[in-house]
Amino acid sequence: MSRPIHVLIDLSALEHNLSVVRRYAPHSRIMAVIKANAYGHGLLHAARALKRADGFALLELDAAICLRKSGYGQPILLLEGFFSTTELALCIQYSLSVVIHHKEQLMMMSALDRLNKLDVFIKINTGMNRLGFAPEEFPFVLQLLESNPAVNQISLMTHFANADNFAENSSVSRQIECFNTLTKGMKHLRSLANSAAIMQYPATHADWVRPGIMLYGASPFPDRTAIDLGLHPVMTVSSKLIAIQNLKAGSRVGYGGQFKATHAMRIGIVAGGYADGYPRHALTGTPVLVNGQRTHTLGFASMDMLAVDLSHIESAVLGSPVILWGKGLPVDEVASTAGTISYELLCAMAPRVEAIIQNT
Ligand SMILES: *Cc1c(COP(=O)(O)O)cnc(C)c1O
Repeated sequence: MSRPIHVLIDLSALEHNLSVVRRYAPHSRIMAVIKANAYGHGLLHAARALKRADGFALLELDAAICLRKSGYGQPILLLEGFFSTTELALCIQYSLSVVIHHKEQLMMMSALDRLNKLDVFIKINTGMNRLGFAPEEFPFVLQLLESNPAVNQISLMTHFANADNFAENSSVSRQIECFNTLTKGMKHLRSLANSAAIMQYPATHADWVRPGIMLYGASPFPDRTAIDLGLHPVMTVSSKLIAIQNLKAGSRVGYGGQFKATHAMRIGIVAGGYADGYPRHALTGTPVLVNGQRTHTLGFASMDMLAVDLSHIESAVLGSPVILWGKGLPVDEVASTAGTISYELLCAMAPRVEAIIQNT
């Protein structure tokens, strides 16, 4: 028997979630965000399930070229653009669209002629203060790109800092207002919304929406679950119990004895630790399913294993199935007890965990 931890990827859930995006934003084109190996789900598997998306967005050049070579003809947008003239040449060769967010990129493009054709998305910094041109720089940048003979289509975009947190809706309004003021009356296509904005702020849908996390069936909101939003989990991390221990009162578990039993109890050891992508800092009490029943972790995860409480799961035996997150146990719940967000858990799934692709 091989080590029993696997990551199950349900492609039909991905397709379903894409249809949920369409329901939320019926008048927009969908740029499916598949950066970071499709948030840890596998680039090409995800692209196959999302083939009806109107475009793809990611930021790894090699992955973008791989997509193009695999036959995807939609726009493929590089969210950080290119980092050198060599990369710029590859973007042109493979018809990749690029985000232009920095003067350096404008310099590199100034040497192009009209034999090179490039679709660009000008990124405007409306308040996130990560990437993009300041509002006062935008008119000059637009003019420069409009007069560059290599530039084919120009689109305009921005990104929200707080679309997931309704208490910060005034910050979102300020960003929307800034973007609208700058781009009013222009013929260029516009793109603003990530998953949270797609679901929370219909006014931001514009021409292209850019969903990421919702495609993978997790919620961007702290106070609404994926189930509330009609999303299905795509990734399920499944494993098994590979040992059972009977603790006496006062015994401790694992490195540093971080968990101490207050009474005699039965615990299970699960194949799955931080080298598989399980968060080491998940506190005692992080939910886990054993035999389909809810229980919780004890102490911190170690590199390859973690301990779970079996006190109330008498049916659990060596080899009993375990779910660390996914179907029946939302990744958002595990993330919040581990002090992080679903995005990080999904992206951190380790390559050593074998993926099983399902099409239910
Ligand atoms: C990652 C990313 C998205 C997708 O965000 P989600 O919160 O996962 O929907 C959209 N736009 C940009 C620019 C991004 O970097």
